[in-house]
Amino acid sequence: MNLKDWFKMKRVLTLFSNSKESSVKAEALLRKTLENSEFEISNKLEEETELIICIGGDGTFLEGIHFFNFPSVPFLGINTGHLGFFQEIRPEQITAFFESYGNGTYSIQEMTTLEATLVNKKGENVVIKGLNEIVVRNTKISKPIHLALSIDDTFMENFSGDGIVVSSSAGSTAYNYSLGGSILEPSLKAIQVTPISPMNNKAYRSFTSSILLSAERCIKVKVDCDDLEHNGIKLSTDNREFEYKDIDVIKLKISNDKLKLVRLEDYNFWKKIKDKFL
Ligand code: NAP
Ligand code: MN
Repeated sequence: MNLKDWFKMKRVLTLFSNSKESSVKAEALLRKTLENSEFEISNKLEEETELIICIGGDGTFLEGIHFFNFPSVPFLGINTGHLGFFQEIRPEQITAFFESYGNGTYSIQEMTTLEATLVNKKGENVVIKGLNEIVVRNTKISKPIHLALSIDDTFMENFSGDGIVVSSSAGSTAYNYSLGGSILEPSLKAIQVTPISPMNNKAYRSFTSSILLSAERCIKVKVDCDDLEHNGIKLSTDNREFEYKDIDVIKLKISNDKLKLVRLEDYNFWKKIKDKFL
């Protein structure tokens, strides 16, 4: 084979891992399995990357998608974490996985993602992306946040409480579920808005349960800055958090970015729920 053909044969896998001992071991096993194969492992997202391998738990997977800025290349998760809901295989399944991957016997799960556009008082914008959820709360945990919530252009409620969680279908099993929100199949393109400790009395009134919106909706949250200590809000997206001042409105919707997860051929969402939750 000449050099040109050899380069054509090159198949690139990009590796993202945490530094836990079990992940270091899994990486060594992965490298050994792929020794003398057509696969080359890179730590960067290359133009030729066909798969991003993420070693760790769901938290590492969430870090990986933000690190690579929501790429269209599929991810495979090798679970060395606790729950591993996104992480499809365990280290001992690496060899069997690559046999199936070589034969094309796997499935791809597509997941919708979220985006929040924060507009400040001067009209300047910043866009934040998220997979599981985007959370809006007060920077001061001793104080509730006061938000005027609209769906598209229909004003719905003046929310007061600890905050709101806007989650995707794929994120419905995470923070949303702990708050009493519903579990959604990831194939459902929907946005769920779940209150965190909503206040309901004669002064404040808002939904006490989560609400489910269709994919084309936009949630507009107007921040009542007069009531905020130092005018600060805390916005978290998956396992990242940021603080902002003087935010006027936050627009939350499903983004155009979709993420792809490699699943085994017999992957079944409800079996996974049974396995991991019940
Ligand atoms: P973590 O401290 O490991 O705790 C989060 C737990 O949720 C872990 O067991 C994680 O799995 C699991 N998880 C993450 N995404 C999931 C999903 N889509 N479906 C089901 N379980 C999921 O923190 P982390 O791993 O960095 O995860 C960050 C996430 O924690 C946030 O996106 C948010 O959803 C969630 N969170 C939950 C609460 C709560 O339930 N009260 C509060 C704050 C944040 P692994 O063990 O494999 O990592
Ligand atoms: Mn974790």
